[in-house]
Amino acid sequence: MIASVLPTYNRAPLTFIRGHGSWLETEDGTRYLDLGAGIAVNSLGHANPDLVAALTEQAGKLWHVSNLYHIAQQEKLADLLVEHTFADSVFFTNSGTEAAELAVKMARKYWFDQGDPERVEIITFEGAFHGRSSAAIAAAGSEKMTKGFGPLLPGFTHLKWGDLEALRTALTNRTAAVWVEPVQGEGGIRALPDQCLKGLRALCDETGALLILDEVQCGMGRTGRLFAHEWAGIAPDIMMVAKGIGGGFPLGAVLATERVAACMTVGSHGSTYGGNPLACAVGTRVMEIVTDPAFLAEVSRKSALMRQKLEGLVAAHPDVFEAVRGMGLMLGLKCKCAPVDMVNAAYTQHLLTVPAADNVLRLLPALTISDAEISDAIARLDRAATDLARNVA
Ligand code: PLP
Repeated sequence: MIASVLPTYNRAPLTFIRGHGSWLETEDGTRYLDLGAGIAVNSLGHANPDLVAALTEQAGKLWHVSNLYHIAQQEKLADLLVEHTFADSVFFTNSGTEAAELAVKMARKYWFDQGDPERVEIITFEGAFHGRSSAAIAAAGSEKMTKGFGPLLPGFTHLKWGDLEALRTALTNRTAAVWVEPVQGEGGIRALPDQCLKGLRALCDETGALLILDEVQCGMGRTGRLFAHEWAGIAPDIMMVAKGIGGGFPLGAVLATERVAACMTVGSHGSTYGGNPLACAVGTRVMEIVTDPAFLAEVSRKSALMRQKLEGLVAAHPDVFEAVRGMGLMLGLKCKCAPVDMVNAAYTQHLLTVPAADNVLRLLPALTISDAEISDAIARLDRAATDLARNVA
């Protein structure tokens, strides 16, 4: 008999009943050190007191009003995002996937309005993950994501990851946009080198194609800058944000320049819940915390500490690990085994990690993780790797 919850996930036999900072607790009181943070969602830790206060204060006043009215919390968060980014305008969603949908619609509508309705092609890269909607799976293109779900939304071309020469050849006067994650998450914590992002931007500028960045996983302070593309000194035309911006409350956004955003006029898009007062009250608090330069400097400092310890771990377990990769607190351990074996070995040490493609174990802790917790996590990974090597031998 099918489970009452549609069985689309291979779930670990763990049920958490409460969380605090970097820790999750099961019913019997067992504590797990969380290096997954809900896959980069709980960016400020579980039950962060600032976010609990923002949410409960808003909950006592107003939960939901339609976008038929002005929503003050939404306007406040949009102003903050505009102040701190390349963007001039923001549309709020409830998830990254919904942000992906709007990014595609916006890129195509832009060219339609420019009098170029044939300019609909969107170029993406192998290993990309933009969500599970029809547009997002067509954008990813892999058999794993698309098999059985045809006919797929047309208009996507897939290139080898980061291949600028292939991009130069693929760009035509039918290319509406190039769409990329500055740091691939699901694809295996692969950071596009700064030179490559700069090259992408330059090729888009040469041909007029729009640059869409998906910062759903790598944005909101995770790499030590508010958004990962800032390291390369470039700016997109459209950007998707989600996950960390709500710190655990469902919230996403599409940010765009005025030139591009102006194509979306009254009636061209909408959402019942997008920009809900509860979500935006929490998102505003997250932004206030994460945009503090001292907070971002701490992310970079902790990243260097964690990276150094992970390099030591790789050196100590050359039979299990191959290399450390990633940026900020979006780190990956390239494994010599299947990463799920390592995830399972880590469970026995009460440590939560996340597998990714390309044999990578993802480490996405809360950005508030302490130095002591980083050391604790490395010790647990060390024991897990020792167990794994012993069991394989
Ligand atoms: N884009 C990226 C880079 C992601 O990592 C994800 C989710 O993992 C998404 C989009 C989809 O976001 P959501 O699951 O909130 O719909």
